[in-house]
Amino acid sequence: MDISIVRSVIEMQARSEHLRLGGHRIALVPTMGALHAGHLALVHEARKHADVVVVSVFVNPTQFNPTEDLARYPRRLDADIRRLEEAGGVDGVFAPSVEEMYPFGTADAAVATWVEVAGLDTHLCGKRRPGHFRGVTTVVAKLFHACRPHAAVFGLKDAQQFVIIRRMAADLLMGIDVIGLPTVREPDGLALSSRNEYLTAEERGQAVVLSKAVFAAVDAVRGGELDPEAIVERMRSTIAEAPLARIQYAEVVDAYTLQPLSALARGSEVLIATAAYFGETRLIDSAFTRVS
Ligand code: AMP
Repeated sequence: MDISIVRSVIEMQARSEHLRLGGHRIALVPTMGALHAGHLALVHEARKHADVVVVSVFVNPTQFNPTEDLARYPRRLDADIRRLEEAGGVDGVFAPSVEEMYPFGTADAAVATWVEVAGLDTHLCGKRRPGHFRGVTTVVAKLFHACRPHAAVFGLKDAQQFVIIRRMAADLLMGIDVIGLPTVREPDGLALSSRNEYLTAEERGQAVVLSKAVFAAVDAVRGGELDPEAIVERMRSTIAEAPLARIQYAEVVDAYTLQPLSALARGSEVLIATAAYFGETRLIDSAFTRVS
C-alpha cells in the first residue's frame, strides 16, 4: 500500500480539510518514530475509529530537557515508512522538520505559546522531568492543528501522557476523541519502547522486573489490598531483584487526578506507575486498574 508522505504543515492542513469535506473521518497516531509493534497496534486501533489513518513522526525537541537524550534518540524515517507500508492500514505519514513545527525556534524564550495542563504534570514523571509534559502537550496541540483529526490514539504505556492529553483535549474543546490502547509487551512482559534498544543484554534481561512489579501491584489491588504503602513496597522489592535497576519512583495514584492516595477506595480507578534507570536508560511501566 502506498503511503503519502507529507512534510509541510500547510499541505497537511489542506489535505485534511479536503478529506473532511469529502466526509472522511481521520485518526492520528502521533509518534517519535523508531517504530515497533506497539506503534503498529495503535495504527490497528486507529483504523477502528476512522477511514483515514495518519501517523506523525516527529522527534519533539521541547519535550526533552537539556540533560536528556534528544541527540541520541533513534531517527530512521525510511525504515519507519517501510514498516508502515508492510503492516498496512496507514494512508499518510506526517513527518515535518523542526523548523516546520517551530518556525520561531525551540528554545524556551523562542516559544511564546505553550499549552500547559496545570496540576497533572507535577506528579510521577512530570515531577522528575521538568518541562517534559509542557513540551508534549504543546507539540500534540500543534500536531492536532496540522492534521485536524477526529480521533487520536495514544499508548497507555505513557499513562501520565494519556491522562494529560485527554484532559487537554477536553479543556480546550478540541472535539477530538482521545483513545488509549493498553501497553504492548515482549513475551517476558517488558513494555515495548524505542528506548529498549539502548539496553545491554544484561540490562535487557533485568528490565523485566518493571513489568513484574506492575503486575504484582495489580494482583495486590485486585486481591483487595487497600494500603498504597504495602503495594509500593511490593513493587520496590520486586524491582530490587534486579541489581542493575535504579528505581526512580513507584506509586499508586488516582487515575484521573494523578494525586497520591493515602488509602484506596473500593470501586475507584487507580494508576500504578514506576520508572527506573538501567544504566543511562530510563524505562517506565504502568497499569490502570479498578479497586475491587
Ligand atoms: P513514542 O514514539 O515513544 O513517543 O510513542 C508514540 C506513541 O506510541 C505513544 O502514544 C506511546 O504511548 C505509544 N507506545 C509506545 N510504546 C508502546 C507500547 N509498548 N504499547 C502501546 N503503545 C505504545
